[in-house]
Amino acid sequence: MPQSLAQAVYLLAAVLFVLSLAGLSKQETARRGNLSGIVGMALALAATVALALDHSERPVAVTGSLILLVLLVGATVGTWQARRVEMTQMPELIAVLHSFVGLAAVLVGYNSFLTEPADPAHLVEVFLGVLIGAVTFTGSIVAYLKLSARMRSAPLSLPGRNWLNLAMVVVCGGLLAWFLVTHGVLPLLLMTAVALALGWHLVASIGGGDMPVVVSMLNSYSGWAAAAAGFMLGNDLLIVTGALVGSSGAILSWFMCRAMNRSFVSVILGGFGTEGGTVVSSDGVVGTHHEITAPGVAELLLGARTVVITPGYGMAVAKAQYPVAELVGKLRARGIEVRFGVHPVAGRLPGHMNVLLAEARVPYDIVLEMDEINGDLAETDVVLVIGANDTVNPAAVDDPSSPIAGMPVLEVWKAAQVVVFKRSMATGYAGVQNPLFFRENTSMLFGDAKVQVEQIMLAV
Ligand code: NDP
Repeated sequence: MPQSLAQAVYLLAAVLFVLSLAGLSKQETARRGNLSGIVGMALALAATVALALDHSERPVAVTGSLILLVLLVGATVGTWQARRVEMTQMPELIAVLHSFVGLAAVLVGYNSFLTEPADPAHLVEVFLGVLIGAVTFTGSIVAYLKLSARMRSAPLSLPGRNWLNLAMVVVCGGLLAWFLVTHGVLPLLLMTAVALALGWHLVASIGGGDMPVVVSMLNSYSGWAAAAAGFMLGNDLLIVTGALVGSSGAILSWFMCRAMNRSFVSVILGGFGTEGGTVVSSDGVVGTHHEITAPGVAELLLGARTVVITPGYGMAVAKAQYPVAELVGKLRARGIEVRFGVHPVAGRLPGHMNVLLAEARVPYDIVLEMDEINGDLAETDVVLVIGANDTVNPAAVDDPSSPIAGMPVLEVWKAAQVVVFKRSMATGYAGVQNPLFFRENTSMLFGDAKVQVEQIMLAV
């Protein structure tokens, strides 16, 4: 394939990637956005393979077979993993995939160093590519180990951890100077070791509660690692794609930090957050709670004019979205106004609830964001909190000493009646007790959310 044709295909793929991101920003267009991304990636791969075959120094059949072999291995493992993974394990899978990008950037860096002429600009590219790649690699592995509970999620608090990070960055600066002067492999190897340790330490210092933001930050790092690989390989599409991933990951992390009232800078620098901010244990009961049964909830719903459902991680675990969607259909058929209020960090990754509700075919126009629904909650007759906890915790607003103080929440307690679906009085992800459960207008419906919603449906 001539170079100019490959460049034209790359340009088309880059436009498709931008369209993909634009499409993914709204539920109505997300499917189309995903498709643009798939087509763009297929075109990019095809053009890259064609170029590789064109420039191959070995017989085309040999190069072709080698490429086919790795593609087959990659596609098989990728398809198998993606089909197997539960929606709630998605952050873990993403963390593993980021570690691959990091490792690829390191390998490309070394390959490029050993095979290309050593001009200073190229050496800087190699150095930065390997640095970002190595940090992303070990950082993502630690993130994976923590998210899958193979490693303790408590933050590793080494004394003077910020100074330690700073010292490692300074050492890498010194190694860059040495590398530029000598063009030797030793400073590159030493920097790789330091960067691997830095990635490990940065993420190990972050507590469980902030891990999802870290995954999103690592997503951003992996984008910059890919962009650096693009510079080394002279591949414009990789530079554009890397920059898109790098900046969108950074923007997403910023949104998540804002939704959790965390400081963006502290999270990027690492060493922020506690193990879910545990302060009050789950047995630290702060009052008495009232229980309700499924038929009781059915009665409440049938007597209501307006209902708001605020879903959370528990709805995902119980896979309750399908009966919930059915219940909503029944209630709406009776003329009851039902809407959803989705907190930006409900679940275990942003958009988690929106995906589940879309999967169950809940109409998009009744799924509102926290800011859109909060003003209406005081006029709502019944709020069903289905498997959500931290995202509806009044302590975030009322209690300045709470670990989640200042985090914007769905103010469900303002409604006339609140029903909380959960299995026990245990705390949510942040490990903080929820005073909502002990309010006069709150009733607890204990049990698996899916089973309970099905029971309510029977009663309705
Ligand atoms: P939480 O983790 O606060 O609460 C989930 C609730 O679901 C628990 O109280 C649990 O109670 C209940 N539950 C679990 N399984 C079931 C089941 N089968 N049936 C019924 N209930 C069940 O979830 P939220 O969605 O409210 O909050 C998300 C949390 O994740 C926040 O702390 C947020 O900060 C954090 N987070 C989210 C991020 C994101 O990007 N989305 C990013 C960073 C953090 P029980 O065990 O008693 O059943």
